[in-house]
Parts: sequence; C-alpha cells; structure tokens
Amino acid sequence: MAAIGFIGLGNMGGPMAANLAEAGHDVSGFDPSEAALAKAREHGVHTAKTIAEAVAGAQTVVSMLPAGPQVREVYTGTGGVLENALAQCLLIDCSTIDVDSARAVHAAAEERGYALLDAPVSGGVAGAEAGQLTFMVGGAEDAFDCAKGLFDSMGKAAVHAGPAGNGQVAKACNNMILGISMLAISEAFTLAERQGLDPRKLFDISSQASGSCWAMLNHNPVPGLVETAAANRNYAPGFSADMMWKDLKLAQDAAMRAGVATPMGANAQALYAALVNAGWGGKDYSAIYRLLRGETPDS
Ligand code: NAD
Repeated sequence: MAAIGFIGLGNMGGPMAANLAEAGHDVSGFDPSEAALAKAREHGVHTAKTIAEAVAGAQTVVSMLPAGPQVREVYTGTGGVLENALAQCLLIDCSTIDVDSARAVHAAAEERGYALLDAPVSGGVAGAEAGQLTFMVGGAEDAFDCAKGLFDSMGKAAVHAGPAGNGQVAKACNNMILGISMLAISEAFTLAERQGLDPRKLFDISSQASGSCWAMLNHNPVPGLVETAAANRNYAPGFSADMMWKDLKLAQDAAMRAGVATPMGANAQALYAALVNAGWGGKDYSAIYRLLRGETPDS
C-alpha cells in the first residue's frame, strides 16, 4: 500500500481520496475548504494544513482541482508540490484543464526530475463515489504502468492516450462529442413532438437505428424515456451545464490554437453559454433540451 498526497478534496476529489483510503492506502489530503477537509476525515483521509504537509513522504501525489490556474499554482507555486514532493514521487493530475497548462506543468515537473500524468476523468460525481471513473491519461508509458493500481482503486478503466497533455486532448474531444450529441437529440425530439410523433416512438425507433448514440441511451433529455436520466429528476445533475460549458470552452481554446475548424463545437459552446446565462448552470447539461424548446428555468 502506498502513501498518497491528495490535493483538492471537492465533489470529485473527496470521493476519489476516500476510495484510495478504502483500498488501504495512507492518504493525506489538503484543501483550503474546511468543510471539504472535515468530510474527507469522515472517510478515512488524514488531513493536512498545507500542500507541503500533505505531500511529505508521499510516493504518489494526486490532484483534483477546478482549472488550469489552480493546477499551475498547486504544482509550480511557492510552497507547491514541486518544491516539496520526494524525489521519484509520481504526480497525477486528474483535473480537467486546458492542454497548454497541462503541458506547461508537465515540463516544469520533468525539469525537476518528476514523472507527471495528466489524467482527467469521465463519470462525474456518481462515478467518483462508486469508484467507476474512466481515466484518459497523457504522459510517459512507464509512469502510466506504475499508476494502474491507483486508477483501479478509483475507476473502472484507464486508457493511455499518449504523451504529455493527450489526456486533456481526449477529454476535450470526448466532451465536445457529448455536448454536440445532446444538442442533436434535443432538436430531433422537439421536432418529432411538434410534428405529432410521440417521443417514446422516436426513442423506440432511433435507439435501434442509425441515429442512436450514448447520450440518447443514457442521458436522454426527454422526461420518462430513460429511467436514470437527469430529466426525471427535474434536471438535477448529473453533469452540470456549467461543467459542459467549461469543457466546450477548453475544446474551443484547443481548436483555436491548433487552427482546426470545429463549427459544431463552436455552436455547442454558444448554446451552453446561453443555457448558463439563462440561469440553468447548476442544472444537468441535458436541460439544453428545455432551452431549445423556448422554456425558462421557472416554466
Ligand atoms: P469542486 O469545486 O467541487 O472541487 C475543487 C476543489 O479544489 C475544492 O474543494 C477547492 O476548495 C479545491 N481547491 C481550489 N483551489 C485549491 C488550491 N489552490 N489548493 C488545493 N485545493 C484547492 O470541483 P469538482 O466538481 O470536484 O471538479 C474538479 C475537477 O474535476 C474539475 O477540473 C472538473 O472539471 C473535473 N470534473 C468534474 C466532474 C463533475 O461532474 N463534477 C466530472 C468530470 C470532471
């Protein structure tokens, strides 16, 4: 069993750290939020007052932070991970961040002799709690092999996506597909209904035809079609519209820098911005269906 420093014990990081502790690892966590620390303690995580204290003696550091600026700060800032981790410590950042920040933090870690993996996840809070996340991982292959056991304690699958930053590229592309799919489904089901076709009938047909896709089968935005979908819980997330907008922005940033045309992704980003600005940011991303139908949060 390993000594693990865990930085960022929020909605995702809290349960991930708890699963590592549950698997028998000695987990020392840090988060500026006292509430997050208290919750982590209830789940067998030792808590620290600083990053330095959390990573002291750790063979592996795992982080789960909001965005690129926090990841840069936590790793390269004064009092951060790179100043305090043991030589040979393996560093795993599971946050969803921009590709440039991921590659910059990789380079800073490498300069100081550390192996770092960017390992963003799919599966949301429910997946984190159930230990059912999917990790998409960028970085050296031997570092990925060393981390496999830890990924197994927190998730159901881990795929090595290639060198530094490729985990973030995979995450941005995957979620761009998801955001666009959700829009396609929302438009099609609205059109069907307004033309007199029962949405249940369209589901029965399309779920077995060429229009089928993962979002239709699992996150269907029409209430009553897929039992576990957020649509049946008044669009309580799930995966929030705020998060989808963030991920679509990351995809657009990457597309701009790479000079790649992604017109559907750009449209999806604009529509999710409208959803968030209409006051639905805390709702599930499938609530875009309601916006496209001309409905408001209170309707
Ligand atoms: P969160 O806001 O609940 O947790 C982030 C935690 O980081 C907070 O507890 C915060 O106090 C802590 N933090 C902020 N700055 C810090 C610092 N400098 N040092 C230490 N801790 C610091 O967010 P979350 O939902 O847990 O998401 C974390 C990451 O996971 C994000 O990058 C998000 O995009 C990604 N993600 C989230 C979901 C989801 O459904 N929530 C799904 C997949 C990926």
